[in-house]
Amino acid sequence: MNLQELQHPLPSPLQRLDDPRWAERGVALWIKRDDLLAPAPNDPLCGNKWRKLQYNLQRAHTDGYEQLLTFGGAFSNHLAAVASAGRHFGFRTIGIVRGEPVNNPTLEKAQADGMQLHFIDRTSYRQKQEPAFLQALTERFGRSYILPEGGTNTAAFAGCTHLAQEILKQHPTQPTQLAVACGTGGTAAGLIHGLAGAADLLGVSVLKGGFMRQEINRHLELLPKSATRWTVLDDYHHGGYARRSSALDDFIQDFYQNHGIVLEPIYTAKLFFALYDLLAQGYYPGGSEVVAIHTGGLQAFASRLEP
Ligand SMILES: *Cc1c(COP(=O)(O)O)cnc(C)c1O
Repeated sequence: MNLQELQHPLPSPLQRLDDPRWAERGVALWIKRDDLLAPAPNDPLCGNKWRKLQYNLQRAHTDGYEQLLTFGGAFSNHLAAVASAGRHFGFRTIGIVRGEPVNNPTLEKAQADGMQLHFIDRTSYRQKQEPAFLQALTERFGRSYILPEGGTNTAAFAGCTHLAQEILKQHPTQPTQLAVACGTGGTAAGLIHGLAGAADLLGVSVLKGGFMRQEINRHLELLPKSATRWTVLDDYHHGGYARRSSALDDFIQDFYQNHGIVLEPIYTAKLFFALYDLLAQGYYPGGSEVVAIHTGGLQAFASRLEP
């Protein structure tokens, strides 16, 4: 694969879910299969991580960088995605990981893809946006294209803006709402911009603390003003980031049995759980066309459900 193919991938499928619970209420639920947008099945360079990295990788290449350096927590799909991107496109990769050294499937995959991991304590990690700190990292590790935590920057917004436009083109009529899980809120911000008022956006925060609206607003300040109406739900985190509940686990099983589509517990299951809950509460008027984005993230989980 070369960078050209990364920049112009085929559109991922937009599928209508055949589900009596939605049909009963006269509401259509569509799923945008960005989990299938990957160089190989279960590659961490997939979903919204692909969308957020595509223009960054192009820029890193154009500006002559040979190394990518980025940040994340121990469960960061972004770290694994950057590692995979490095392997596919020939960049060395450095991952600065928050907290005590640990191991899990996500970090193992990043290392297998050649990423050098450096664990730093939480206090130092908070400096991750300070120029002096970044300068010190560059001195230590060499000239690097620096990607912020979660990969959220202006080039990432552009990839997500493109995603919104792709969905609007694919939908046979007009979606009324796009729905997405939010971690940094970068994907949501890019979608809000890309929709340009053509549909509403619903974000479901996977973190506890109720600050997602503020985060998205902060990202939106970096983008031209958009006519899109948007809202964020803060009550579907199931205990906080990377926490899960038995209700969430049951939902993942149920969804897989009914649709053959795997959701992971950190992001996409929390999104779909919220949508089914909203449906049951009568939130959606008949005739609504809801498009939920499957943002991927399956590399650490898929094998647990699939036969
Ligand atoms: C990173 C990630 C998100 C969150 O994206 P943000 O742009 O940080 O809000 C959502 N879903 C999956 C599967 C992810 O890996």
